[in-house]
Amino acid sequence: MILLDGKKTSADLKVEIAESVKELKAKGKKTPHLAAILVGTDGASMTYVNAKVKACELVGFNSTLIDLPEETSEETLLQEIEKLNNNNDIDGFIVQLPLPKHIDEQKVLMAVHPDKDVDGFHPTNVGRMTLDLPTFLPATPFGILELLERYKVETSGQHVVVIGRSHIVGRPMSILMSQKRPAGDATVTVAHSRTKNLKELTLQADIVVAALGIPEFLTGDMVKDGVTIIDVGITRIDDSSKKSGYRLAGDVHFESVAPKSSFITPVPGGVGPMTIAMLMKNTLLACERKS
Ligand code: NAD
Repeated sequence: MILLDGKKTSADLKVEIAESVKELKAKGKKTPHLAAILVGTDGASMTYVNAKVKACELVGFNSTLIDLPEETSEETLLQEIEKLNNNNDIDGFIVQLPLPKHIDEQKVLMAVHPDKDVDGFHPTNVGRMTLDLPTFLPATPFGILELLERYKVETSGQHVVVIGRSHIVGRPMSILMSQKRPAGDATVTVAHSRTKNLKELTLQADIVVAALGIPEFLTGDMVKDGVTIIDVGITRIDDSSKKSGYRLAGDVHFESVAPKSSFITPVPGGVGPMTIAMLMKNTLLACERKS
């Protein structure tokens, strides 16, 4: 069993991105600049945004955090987005999800200019992705492709079962892995909450991407020997033995699945760190595209 080490791979990637930033600067080009909008004080969202800002510092990007109160109106948020769209120094920006209930998420994501949409959530970029055109790939699926590629996991002709059909993980993952591309060319099955024979499907899978958000859902009896496992899930579980008061659990029951696996991502330290590195990569691309 080989661990797909997202912590190490993302650190390597950040070193590579930092090198590119140095080269840009040496050529007198602009420093990549990522902005993030955070609405409210959700604990997990604050942790994610802070990690993104820290990653910017590490690779030599400029970063701007726009921290808005929970009660911010949809109109005010849309105005902030418009300011970022029109700010030439900002190469890309993200709006941290989830948003408070009174704000229409779809409307907000549509307002981000596609050229600055480094999360790859705008319909224009989703369409471009679907048509195999150059675009910003959504960071989590992009990170998974990168991990599979760097560890030379064979995907061509393999049967991949993606559990989950969300717009940010399951759906794009299933599209990307079925495309003609590195870490693609797979035969993909998408499973979701209405799937009836999930165990039958996962038992046939060469690769399982678990992205459903139910801790330790995928167990050893559901997979075949030699399977590759990508565990996307991150759920906070109360744990009084931890200083933070919680531990992070994936969607995979690691103890029973790992012994049967060829490759497996741990949680934490698997897909999570890759997501942030790929956001940096998209921001670098956005900056390079402009110059
Ligand atoms: P979501 O809640 O939007 O979607 C969950 C999907 O799972 C749905 O499509 C649903 O149909 C499916 N599902 C639910 N119950 C199921 C069942 N019993 N059997 C089969 N399918 C079922 O979730 P999401 O935003 O895609 O996130 C999934 C998990 O990944 C969460 O734990 C989230 O925190 C995590 N996540 C991690 C990263 C990262 O960087 N590692 C990024 C995004 C999301």
